[in-house]
Amino acid sequence: MTEKIFLENPYIRQINGRIVHKKYMNNKYYIKTNKTIFYPNLSDGQPGDKGTINGIPVLDVYEDDGDIVHVLGENILSDKVELSIDWENRADYMQQHSGQHLLSAVFYKLYNGETIGFYIGKELVYIDVDIPSIEEDEIDKIEEFANKIIYSNFSIKSYTIKKEDVSRLPVRNESLENSRIRIVEIDGIDFSPCGGTHLRSTGEIGIIKIKKIQSHKGHIRVEFVCGYRALKDYASLAKENRILKEKLAEYEKQTNPE
Ligand SMILES: [Zn+2]
Repeated sequence: MTEKIFLENPYIRQINGRIVHKKYMNNKYYIKTNKTIFYPNLSDGQPGDKGTINGIPVLDVYEDDGDIVHVLGENILSDKVELSIDWENRADYMQQHSGQHLLSAVFYKLYNGETIGFYIGKELVYIDVDIPSIEEDEIDKIEEFANKIIYSNFSIKSYTIKKEDVSRLPVRNESLENSRIRIVEIDGIDFSPCGGTHLRSTGEIGIIKIKKIQSHKGHIRVEFVCGYRALKDYASLAKENRILKEKLAEYEKQTNPE
């Protein structure tokens, strides 16, 4: 089984490893290494990592019966390899994903809304919450509460427990099939089973901003942004706002000349 370094320390951007298995099929190389920092695709709603092995781009990463498979378009001749992930991409997903845990926890705490699905993409991030609707002032309360937890900088930790011990913790979303469960805890506030990569503390999420709430199949879909994405979003909205104000002032000058 591949040693999954990203579970122990998701901040490692580069490691040296060894190829333990290689397969050539349809012009692609399928490589397993003794350890990896590459988070796989199609797991926990968090996209897989981008990056390189010995400088060759990794086209896809997936899990195969406990092993991680890296798909490359070129062969690697040496057994010794250097794995590097695209850190900017990973750090962004860690901010969105950790923010998702926090936002889900706050929906649950304030309005008993259980998160029944989530999506983290390059542009879009949302959670589906099993409440039929929500009021404007309730959204404000959720944002305020979530951001206060960010500024209080609570620790985020992960650990593995036995399935029979799960009932001792207030775990949300119990979709528990394995005998050992990985729990991601926001310091006494929230306990979720998750195999993704998370930040060390809520402060690193930076900010959570809810962008849009829609009705979706009897529940609500909550679109949001966290951290650096939120800063970029704010910058683009501020620019849009400035341009609109300038256009409005110009229009008023033309229609009401002194
Ligand atoms: Zn997670």
